Parts: sequence; C-alpha cells; structure tokens
Amino acid sequence: MSAPQAPVFRVRNLCKTYRSGEVEVRALRGVDFEARGGEFIVILGPSGSGKSTFLNIVGGLDRATSGEAWFRDHDLTRANEAGLTRYRRDHVGFIFQFYNLVPSLTAFENVKLVTEIARNPMDPAQALALVGLEDRMDHFPAQLSGGEQQRVAIARAIAKQPDVLLCDEPTGALDSKTGVRVLEALTAVSARTSATTLVITHNAAIADIADRVVQFADGTIASERRNDSRKPASAVSW
Ligand code: ADP
Repeated sequence: MSAPQAPVFRVRNLCKTYRSGEVEVRALRGVDFEARGGEFIVILGPSGSGKSTFLNIVGGLDRATSGEAWFRDHDLTRANEAGLTRYRRDHVGFIFQFYNLVPSLTAFENVKLVTEIARNPMDPAQALALVGLEDRMDHFPAQLSGGEQQRVAIARAIAKQPDVLLCDEPTGALDSKTGVRVLEALTAVSARTSATTLVITHNAAIADIADRVVQFADGTIASERRNDSRKPASAVSW
C-alpha cells in the first residue's frame, strides 16, 4: 500500500467577516478542512452559506479575517499580494459559472493567453482536445454554445497544469444535458492531470461524482461524507 499523501490544503478555524460601515456579515465562522492530492470534492450548501468565500480564500483571491489556510507550505493567510498572485498563477486553475472568455479571441487564443504566462503549460491544442473541442479551436465564443464555452474555460484552467482546480457553480448556467457534458470534461481532465478539484454547486445530484462531499451551512462545514464509489458524470442528471 502506498503511503498516505500529505494534504494539499490545510484549513484551520478559518473566519471571514465582511464589514461595510456599521454592517458586519460573518461569512465564515470557523472552517476546518483538508484536501489531499488528486481528491475530487463537491461543496454543497444553500446560497449565502459561505461556499464562494471559502473557495476564494483557498484560491488566493480573497483574505481571511482570522484562522489559517495553507496550500502545501504556502501560508495563504499571511502571504502578501505579490505572493498570492504568484500562488494563483503557478498553482490554481479557476472555473466560474460565467465563462469569462475574451470575445474577440478564438478558443485557441483564449487558452493561449494563459499558456503564454504559465511556468509549465501544455499545448493549447492539447488542452482543447482534452475537453473534446479539437474541432472548434478556431471558433470565437459567440460561435460556441454555453456548454462549449464552459469547456473552453476548463481547457484554459487546466492548460497551465495547475495543482488545484477551483470551480464555482461550473454548471450553474447550463441545462442538464449540457451540464453533464461539462462535468464529463471536468472529471476527465481532473483525473488526467491529478489536480485536486473543488466544485461548488447548489445541485445535490452532482455530489455522486465526488470522492468526498462537504456540506456548508451558516459559514461552517455542517457535515462531510465520503462516497464509497464515484458515479461517472454521464450517470448524473437533474
Ligand atoms: P455562497 O457561495 O454559499 O452563496 P458566499 O460566500 O457568496 O456564499 O456569501 C456568504 C455571505 O457573505 C453572504 O451573506 C454574502 O452576502 C456575504 N458576502 C459575500 N461577499 C461579500 C462582500 N464582498 N461584501 C459583503 N458581504 C459579502
């Protein structure tokens, strides 16, 4: 049996309070979390329960108010702006609900934008082939369906060969059939690149494709479960 892998993420008592004027919102109230290399984790929870705040902090897009968040030996709660930018550039691939593609660039060029500044990129054509878009590389976003645009966004996220893939409602704007195709692409690239993958969704049907399911409520992790076996994305519907 191989030795257990060290955690990729270690989060302890993470708290985040947003303040605007007199108003305080306690978005995270003491989150403890670990993720191991290559794990595929689905994060469920009602709107406002702190999921995006959590993902943004472990992705180096936002800062905690207190507590600790480590990526390997990088202390994300004490890093300065330049350190967080480096962390994001070198280690993290993001996928959001809305694809954020550059409309005036082709699918290939959208991916190339990232590979040009990455340390260890794959060929943009290879990244697009991994999500099944080898025939659409020269199309502009407006010439692609929503699901295809999201697959370009996945290709863009994985083309720099990130250690972690952070996905915030990646199928939130898609119908079931298209969403399943996107999840198939996501699980395939996650397995292929061994990226630790965190997927936020409000859609409980998606939980079955995960190794582990984390349930947020009121700014904390209310429960966690491990799936004995993972369903293929093709077997999910909603
Ligand atoms: P979820 O992703 O589960 O929907 P969020 O992390 O987006 O939850 O939000 C958690 C809480 O923090 C919510 O009450 C939300 O309104 C609040 N919040 C999120 N971002 C900000 C912000 N930039 N300023 C003030 N409050 C915020």
